[in-house]
Amino acid sequence: RVGFLDTVYPEFYRERNTTPEATPVVTRFPPEPNGYLHIGHAKAIAINFGFAKYHGGKCYLRFDDTNPEAEEEKYFTAIKDMIEWLGFKPYKITYSSDNFDKLYEKAEEMIKSKKAYVCHCGDAEIKEQRGGETRVGERFRCDHAKQSVEENLSKFRAMRDGEYKPREAFLRMKQNIDDGNPQMWDLAAYRVLDAEHHRTGPKWKIYPTYDFTHCLCDSFEGITHSLCTTEFTQSRVSYEWLNKTLKVYEPMQREYGRLSITGTVLSKRKIMKLVNEGYVRGWDDPRLYTLIGIKRRGVPPGAILEFVNELGVTTGATNIQLARFDQTVRRYLERTVPRLMLVLDPIPVVIEDAEEIELDIPFSPKISAMGSHKVKFTKTVYIERSDFREVDSPEYFRLAPGKSVGLLQVPYPIKAVSFSKDGERVTEIRAVFDKEGNKPKTYIHWVAEGSRNVEVRIHNSLFKTEKPDDVEGGFLNDINPKSEEIWPHAMIESGFGEVKSRAPWPEAAGESELGKGGVESVRFQAMRVAYMAMDSDSTDEKLVFNRIVSLKEDAGK
Ligand code: ATP
Ligand code: MG
Ligand code: MG
Repeated sequence: RVGFLDTVYPEFYRERNTTPEATPVVTRFPPEPNGYLHIGHAKAIAINFGFAKYHGGKCYLRFDDTNPEAEEEKYFTAIKDMIEWLGFKPYKITYSSDNFDKLYEKAEEMIKSKKAYVCHCGDAEIKEQRGGETRVGERFRCDHAKQSVEENLSKFRAMRDGEYKPREAFLRMKQNIDDGNPQMWDLAAYRVLDAEHHRTGPKWKIYPTYDFTHCLCDSFEGITHSLCTTEFTQSRVSYEWLNKTLKVYEPMQREYGRLSITGTVLSKRKIMKLVNEGYVRGWDDPRLYTLIGIKRRGVPPGAILEFVNELGVTTGATNIQLARFDQTVRRYLERTVPRLMLVLDPIPVVIEDAEEIELDIPFSPKISAMGSHKVKFTKTVYIERSDFREVDSPEYFRLAPGKSVGLLQVPYPIKAVSFSKDGERVTEIRAVFDKEGNKPKTYIHWVAEGSRNVEVRIHNSLFKTEKPDDVEGGFLNDINPKSEEIWPHAMIESGFGEVKSRAPWPEAAGESELGKGGVESVRFQAMRVAYMAMDSDSTDEKLVFNRIVSLKEDAGK
């Protein structure tokens, strides 16, 4: 079930007197290659790729590379990788710059039909023309709008040939300044930029603007539904105007609400600060909501898509709490990952009357297809330091001197008989099997002697409040000092080897069609601890795990 995808926009087919069968859906995801994608982009990806896929159409990945100053090669690759990770395959990868020649021709065509002129005004003059401070409410055109076609053509060609410096001249569309919508007030179509383009090199001295490029590239590619965020609602008028004026194929623009997450920051500039000032490990830090960060944390792509689907396509901006995202991830993992035992802070328990035996432990109590694995039970096992108390009390149900507790999957409970300390710290517990006692109230997790040592990183919210930007002095003053807690001496049971080799566990129940990517991640539920994923810092010698999410909503804040 894919919540938002059945929004068919029937008006598109009505207006054009066609059907979805005769005119299949064509969409595009048009990122600017100037940064890493974040969770908000996942919504745009899901909408564009998902909508096309659902209706049997196709979706382009179009890099909107008209701003050479901000673009970098690494972002192209990262963006493409994230789309694939989310399980989508672009019909084609295109670049706005593929169309630079064609766009240039269209600009000349505009000039020839008196729909564009070269203007030399600066920001202050333009502001005044649009009803600035001195003539509030009054709009007018500058004298450049009166230039002849020939004059405009020769000036525009001079712009192209590098005869103007940036800001000395720009091409303006002649729209309708009487329209109440500022998007019709003679917007810029081309500007002079002194920048080399990573694809066209030094060829161009002028670059087309978003308002000129986007609707035309959509038209050239035969996009049926141009889906964008609501900031562009006002732009719909100029979008339609330009295609109509040039008499080219007219796609339909429709808007959906941006996805915002509270309790974190998504802006490139802010994340850059966090990275550069060492608050996080990098752009892919598991505490960030960049897609590379979410991926590194171990969140499955299917869970992200499920989250986006649940939100649906509304035009209102959606403000979502991190907890809601975590809840979706938790639910998704619950039905898709195997279980293992891992101890964060191990303390040895010597069970005096125990003998080594082999246990057969299912990977999941719910999904029998996941099968089981053999685990050695040893005379010494390791349990969580927090599962032992030196002094017992009646409302306490884990291990304490004289008290019994169950060990997960082990036939008999154990009863602590004594313990030793080094200063304040308990170093060893001695216990015996409690074969006669009642069934224990609690079962705790454990690992056997010889289990592998691993590092576990528990990630909490990077910020203390829901609105880091509103904190006095800015979001850096809201950093949670305990946003990353490291357990350097954790231990993982031997079943991890099989969990790793069988990833991504196709036996998982209810894994949705979408988002089957992410196969390289190894994820499991560490029973009673958290959902975990192997971190990219892992080596053959040293394993590092990230907490993907806690097992329960309020745990580990
Ligand atoms: P940002 O400033 O956060 O990088 P952007 O709009 O500049 O966002 P683009 O690279 O232009 O980023 O984004 C590509 C597509 O993703 C656009 O269609 C844009 O509208 C959409 N998009 C970006 N952020 C969000 C969001 N938070 N929710 C939904 N869609 C988004
Ligand atoms: Mg943008
Ligand atoms: Mg952007």
